[in-house]
Amino acid sequence: MQAVIQYIEKELSGLYPANEITGFTRLIFEHVCGWDYTRFLANRNTILPSSEKEAVKQIVERLKTFEPIQYILGETEFYGLRLKVNPAVLIPRPETEELVEWMVKTNSLKSPAILDIGTGSGCIALALKKELSRADISATDISEKALQTARENAETNRLQVDFFQADILHWENHTWKTFDMIVSNPPYVREMEKEKMQPNVLEFEPARALFVPDANPLIFYRKISELALNHLNPGGFLFFEINEHLGAEMKKLLAGPGFKNIYLKKDIHGKERMIQCQK
Ligand code: GLN
Repeated sequence: MQAVIQYIEKELSGLYPANEITGFTRLIFEHVCGWDYTRFLANRNTILPSSEKEAVKQIVERLKTFEPIQYILGETEFYGLRLKVNPAVLIPRPETEELVEWMVKTNSLKSPAILDIGTGSGCIALALKKELSRADISATDISEKALQTARENAETNRLQVDFFQADILHWENHTWKTFDMIVSNPPYVREMEKEKMQPNVLEFEPARALFVPDANPLIFYRKISELALNHLNPGGFLFFEINEHLGAEMKKLLAGPGFKNIYLKKDIHGKERMIQCQK
């Protein structure tokens, strides 16, 4: 195993920072050998069977092309849930866990009706259901492939969420219940921000879940806040993950139609990453 660890380090050094390589090594062993971190530390001198060595080699080859480890392994963790991921869905980010946490803290109802828009892997909806077991949770996406992944994630985690297809830019064409909370982490990266992005995101993650036109970066927020005005109960909450550069514009967008108690919140990196308001 020691030799395999050295192999991983040698192959990936220069391509990734050392701490990231250590993280990959842990995940690879967990995935290939089924070992948790303690067992990993205790078994450093074990010799791996050649089938497992071959599996490691194939993962490392894919990492060399900057394919995200989560897609290679086909899963990731979010809010303590193990979720299947594939290139039809964005890889859940730690910042989004903070958004879920903020919602859970804000909620005071026993069984709130909640809608998650652009659910992707289902991460927000499923984490909310895990925390608020009596909540009535609906979640929508434009992509049938994403919904299929989200439904599988609901099943493997034994969580009940109603997933359905809708094009939120034309929400008027669908029928909606009323909700106590609406949440969305819609596409918000402007085309002009592409050049600062890493190849693992740019070349592998679904562009339609990430990008918006430079000239109209709040297109999804505008439509979703219209829907919220029409389908939130009085006093109901609207939560968004946002582009860290567009906090002020977001406040304006929500204040215009009369949302109240508008708060921006910074993520662990100190970036204005989420916003809440009330109808
Ligand atoms: N936070 C993601 C990123 O920077 C973007 C998520 C989104 O567009 N909703 O890659």
